[in-house]
Order: sequence, then structure tokens, then C-alpha cells
Amino acid sequence: MMGGTSGLEQLDELYESIILDHYRNPRHTELLENPDIDVEANNPFCGDEVHIQLALDGSNVKNVSVSGQGCAISQSSASLLAEMLEDKRADEALELVTLVRRMMRGEELSEAEMDTLGDIVALEGVKRFPVRIKCALLSWTALEDALSEEKAD
Ligand code: ZN
Repeated sequence: MMGGTSGLEQLDELYESIILDHYRNPRHTELLENPDIDVEANNPFCGDEVHIQLALDGSNVKNVSVSGQGCAISQSSASLLAEMLEDKRADEALELVTLVRRMMRGEELSEAEMDTLGDIVALEGVKRFPVRIKCALLSWTALEDALSEEKAD
């Protein structure tokens, strides 16, 4: 079981199980051969690192790789991101980032928006632990930066 410092034990049990599942079995970790986007980010406050690669087909995400190391929240969040990204358009991915950030700020989301987030809502409880919000948002912020740069090219 997780120790007393993770904050996870204070989250809803269902949400905790989603987070731990993604932490222990992260999705899409295999590196891509020819990524169009390749970005790394770290959160020095916690020691979290993420490495995101995307292969694009026009404006569609064709393939995604997300790997890294760090706390359960940062790594499960990155895995959830990987799972959500496949077959999404770049603009849909950016919308997801906005939704995740709004959720972490504690903004009220509509039911449709919660549906769009899917399993990512498991991270919602993290907003009660301000130092952990950076962990949860690390991969999303990195993705947003990478996609915004790509668009600017
Ligand atoms: Zn962390």
C-alpha cells in the first residue's frame, strides 16, 4: 500500500484505484521512431519527469508515447493523457488540457465536460492538495507547450 505521504489515501477509492492502475501499468510508454513532437518536462518540487512524443498525421494524433518517472500522481496523469490522446485532433488535445486545468482550479465543469475528461476525473481530488497540482498538470502543460509551438511553425 501507499505510504502516508502520497495524499492518495485521502482520495475517493474508485479514483485511487484508477490512479494506481495507471501508475503501475502506464499506457503507451514505448518510444516512437519518428516523432513529430518530442518534449520533456520536469517538476523540480517533486522530482517528476515526463517525456512525451507524438506522431501526427496532419492535425491528427496518430501515435503517442509517454514515459517518465516520479510520483504516482504525475505518472498516472501522464498515462491518462497518453490514453486520451490517441486518435484525437491537436485542437481537441488542447481543449482537454484546458479542461484539466479548469478542473484543477476547482471550476465547476458541465456533465458533458466531465464525460469528455473520462477517467481523467480521477485526478480531481488532487486539487485539494496544492503542492500536488503541479504533479498532475506536468504532462498536460508540456503537451500544451509542444502543440502550441507546433502550430506556430
Ligand atoms: Zn509529483
